[in-house]
Amino acid sequence: EGAINRIAAGEVVERPASAVKELVENALDAGATRIEVAIADGGKTLIRVRDDGCGIAPEQLPLALARHATSKIDGSDLLNIHSFGFRGEALPSLGAVGRLTITSRARGFEAAEISVSGGQMGAVKPAALNSGTTVSLRDLFYATPARLKFMRSDRAENQAISDTIKRLAMAEPFVGFTLRDVSGGGEGRITFRADPETGDLFDALHGRLARVIGADFAENALRIEATREGLSMTGYAALPTYSRGSSVTQYLFVNGRPVRDKMLYGALRAAYSDVLSRDRHPAAALFLDCDPTLVDVNVHPAKSEVRFSDPGLARGLIVSGLRHALAEAGH
Ligand code: ADP
Ligand code: MG
Repeated sequence: EGAINRIAAGEVVERPASAVKELVENALDAGATRIEVAIADGGKTLIRVRDDGCGIAPEQLPLALARHATSKIDGSDLLNIHSFGFRGEALPSLGAVGRLTITSRARGFEAAEISVSGGQMGAVKPAALNSGTTVSLRDLFYATPARLKFMRSDRAENQAISDTIKRLAMAEPFVGFTLRDVSGGGEGRITFRADPETGDLFDALHGRLARVIGADFAENALRIEATREGLSMTGYAALPTYSRGSSVTQYLFVNGRPVRDKMLYGALRAAYSDVLSRDRHPAAALFLDCDPTLVDVNVHPAKSEVRFSDPGLARGLIVSGLRHALAEAGH
């Protein structure tokens, strides 16, 4: 049973970056306004996510670690999931593949913590914490040597974590994010920082773009607003002069969720096909929003692919919306 749970957990937690994603999404779900992530050795020996969200009451701590236990869904909600993540899978999965400790303080309660390691849960103990939640995951995959072997270099895992944080930071411009590398011990070194943005959504997005992609991009980006048959697209896209040889400056979101979807990337490339050579990738941060029943965001456990009930509509909106903005800007 333990082994099967650990294998299932491996589906949810592929690598350190997927653990970071689940923990940061939990912090966002908890209403955090500041999220600090610390990692050591590419996240292999330590991932720690600290938030100022609502916290977890002591008696709820064991429940947070129980499989399929979630505070975010009720029976009637099953077909209409707005929130992030696999329901109730992340923490038990992380507790099955690493040494997990949750320390938390909910308003009106004392701080408490619970640890789970290789699926074995300890008792709830008093702890010291002012507010919010700190989750630390040590020695990821120590119990599954086969998976450990497939982890890439610290550098590659650091890059994937940084990429994950940047995507989430683009999705949530009003939330502050810090990524710190504590491999050498102590306070470590800040490798990414974005303070909470202010103003309206476009102001906030613009500020966040400057942080995540670069001030030069933000200054030259076209503001995008287009709607077609209940699907809307909002955000910024680059002038053809601001393109890169890789797609790391393309941030796409569907109903607030960062996605990496081939069809959507293809539409983005097609929109620029007349003004950009095929080996260049236009920088963009685009938010597609529609009725959640018109898109399936749970196609793959990694949840970065989406399936629209009308893919042609999504593609058409991206291509025509961006071409229109490019034409207006004289391209
Ligand atoms: P899910 O997010 O799908 O509910 P998880 O396994 O990720 O499942 O988390 C289980 C539960 O633990 C959540 O439903 C939530 O109640 C609680 N929880 C997890 N992380 C946090 C956090 N950072 N702050 C507050 N509550 C949390
Ligand atoms: Mg979760």
